[in-house]
Amino acid sequence: MKLIILGSGGSVSIPRPFCNCENCSKARKKGIPWARTGPSIFMEEESILFDTPEEIRMQIEREKIKKIKHVFYTHWHPDHTQGLRIFEHIYFSHPDKPKKELVNVYIPENAFSDFEKFCSSIFFPEKKGYIKINKIQDRVPIKIGTTSITPLDFKRKDRVRYGYLIEQNGIRTVYAPCSVFDISLDEYYQNLDLVLMEIGWFGNTKERRAKLPKGHAWHDHISFEENLEIIKKIRPQRTILVHIDGTRHLNSDANHDFLLKQAKKYKGFNIDIAYDGMKIEL
Ligand SMILES: [Zn+2]
Ligand SMILES: [Zn+2]
Ligand SMILES: [Zn+2]
Repeated sequence: MKLIILGSGGSVSIPRPFCNCENCSKARKKGIPWARTGPSIFMEEESILFDTPEEIRMQIEREKIKKIKHVFYTHWHPDHTQGLRIFEHIYFSHPDKPKKELVNVYIPENAFSDFEKFCSSIFFPEKKGYIKINKIQDRVPIKIGTTSITPLDFKRKDRVRYGYLIEQNGIRTVYAPCSVFDISLDEYYQNLDLVLMEIGWFGNTKERRAKLPKGHAWHDHISFEENLEIIKKIRPQRTILVHIDGTRHLNSDANHDFLLKQAKKYKGFNIDIAYDGMKIEL
């Protein structure tokens, strides 16, 4: 299984426009791995893309990707969808006679009404005939060549978020880039070779949450300690932390060297920090 992390950033990318803080300045000067674009991964074998962040066109250019046949969406949030004009680019420039071979777009059924409400522009390329939208059911695998992709509803009480189990020749990877706080972990998360999971915020979880004002995002967003708890529960062979959020640009959370140091502290856990263009072969 060959995967590329196209974008390792979170809800906002780094550097943030107009910001000259230490982390943003460093990202601007040094580029990758400090600079990060929106969350997306690509599976080479079957030309499968997961999510279309706003920088997707440049990510495809950067990695010299030649073909996209399938796009799976995790949820409607703008950081995961707002590059959807890519379908127009694909339609008009795809080398594989695209009129015969539309891009298959997959939206999980429980997330479908959110797309209708908040991301209705996804239905424009469908109307134009650039894509075919497929509504897919939770925990029902989609077979594509030698690969099987299973949507995983995180089954949160307060919102609908999905990840995907990607299986090929006995290799099992879960991509869970966003909102894994309070995720229900079932047998689909067992015996994994790799987990790509949203990175949490740093610090003592209980102490920091107790001091946060009401309504602060960290009340229902995962901490790094909670990342470790998930890893302890499911024991994957390897974990790569993704969705490294630019909203934390002023904290050490946006410092790539700091993140690597934190990850390497837990040797038995085999944790790594994603960066744009990271290639993974399993
Ligand atoms: Zn900044
Ligand atoms: Zn999100
Ligand atoms: Zn996100």
